[in-house]
Amino acid sequence: MGKEIRATPSLGAKIQDEEQLRPLTNDEAELLRWMFDHGSDDPRTFRSQLENIQAARCCSCGCPSIHLEVAKDVQPGADRGEKVVGDFAGKTAQGELVGILLFQEKGKLTELEVYSMDGLAEGAFGLPDLGSMSVLEWVPSPTNPGFKVPFKSPGSPA
Ligand SMILES: [Zn+2]
Repeated sequence: MGKEIRATPSLGAKIQDEEQLRPLTNDEAELLRWMFDHGSDDPRTFRSQLENIQAARCCSCGCPSIHLEVAKDVQPGADRGEKVVGDFAGKTAQGELVGILLFQEKGKLTELEVYSMDGLAEGAFGLPDLGSMSVLEWVPSPTNPGFKVPFKSPGSPA
C-alpha cells in the first residue's frame, strides 16, 4: 500500500517518544475500532481520526501504551474538557486483567494507555483480546470512591 505518511518535523520534536512515530499495528487499530464502536457516543466522534494516525511507544515499563499522533487535518472529536474519552477493561492472551484508557486533548486523540488492573501483568505485556473487552462504568460510592464496576458490552466484535 503506497500511501506516504509525512511526519512534520516541528510536531515530532515536541514528542518525548521512546520510539519513532509509526503506523498502528493491526492489533492496535482493531482495539481502537472496538473502543469507538462499543464505547459511548463521545469516543465514536474520534473514529475518523484513525485515518493516517501514527503511534509511538510512550512508556518504557513494558506495557503496550502508545502515544497517538493524528493527521493534521482531522475532524475534531467531542471535547468536554475531560481528557479520558474511553474507559475499558479486558484480558490479555495470558489472562492478565488490564485497563485501557483512551485520551484526547482539544478534540484530538493523544494516547492509548494500557495498565495492569490485577497486578499480574508485570514487565512486558500485550494488548487485550477483543473478545474479553468490556466497557467500564464509573460508579460513585460513598464508602469506596475509587470503585469501578465493569459491565459487559452488549455487542461482541464479529
Ligand atoms: Zn508503561
